[in-house]
Order: sequence, then structure tokens, then C-alpha cells
Amino acid sequence: MKRSALFARDGGRCVYCGLEYEYEELSVDHVQPRMRGGDGSPGNLVTACRGCNARKAGRSLPQFLAEEPEARRNFFRLARYVWPRHLKAVAEELARRGEVSTPTELVEGIRGLRGSEAIANLLEKQDRSTERSKSDGE
Ligand SMILES: [Zn+2]
Repeated sequence: MKRSALFARDGGRCVYCGLEYEYEELSVDHVQPRMRGGDGSPGNLVTACRGCNARKAGRSLPQFLAEEPEARRNFFRLARYVWPRHLKAVAEELARRGEVSTPTELVEGIRGLRGSEAIANLLEKQDRSTERSKSDGE
């Protein structure tokens, strides 16, 4: 897939910070890294601004999303062209890392997945319940 076609598909918007950029400010990011067998098919590519791509640096996508909640919310909201199996793998890794509080509910939610928005809604619900339980403890 050509870079310009990818950027056009994603509306020139970075999937991590959610902002729109000129094409010169954008870069291509692989959901499944090339070194792990990820290919250049449209469902494995997302648009990322240079700033986010540099900040992500050597981190894997699940690691990056685990450490940056805002990027996590934007990714699941915006990466709607990513293959469902990749989204599922990322969400399951986040559950394993304890970033989403109830992995069973998340995985069950993913089983009924129609698009990335289903996961985004679920993550948002979980973020809210995590915030609630945090403030309950204080
Ligand atoms: Zn960005």
C-alpha cells in the first residue's frame, strides 16, 4: 500500500494522538512488526505522526498502549481498518498486562466484535471503572 493512500484512508490523522497532520509530518506504523512477520497489507498498517512514532520508539504496540492510556483510547477508536485478529491480539496482550481490569469480559467482548469501536467502548467502560475503584480506595 502506498504511503499517500494509507494517509488518505486514515484522513491524515495519527491513530495515537488523534490529530491531523500534513502528509510530510506522517509516518507508517506496522501493527504487527515486520520482524515478527507483519506484512505491508492495509490491515497491518496505521498512520502515525512522526512525534508519536518517535515516542513509541522500540516499544511493541501493546507495551506502548499499556503505558499510554490516551494513545490506547485513540488507537481503538481510530484504527478501524486494522485486521480484527490484530486488534484481538493487542487487546489480549493488554489484558495479560493487567491494563484492562477484567480480561474475561474483554475477551468475551472481543468475541462479539464487529469493529474496533466495540473494543473502544469496552476499554472506556473499563477505564471508568478503574478510575472509580481507584478513587474509592482513597
Ligand atoms: Zn501522533
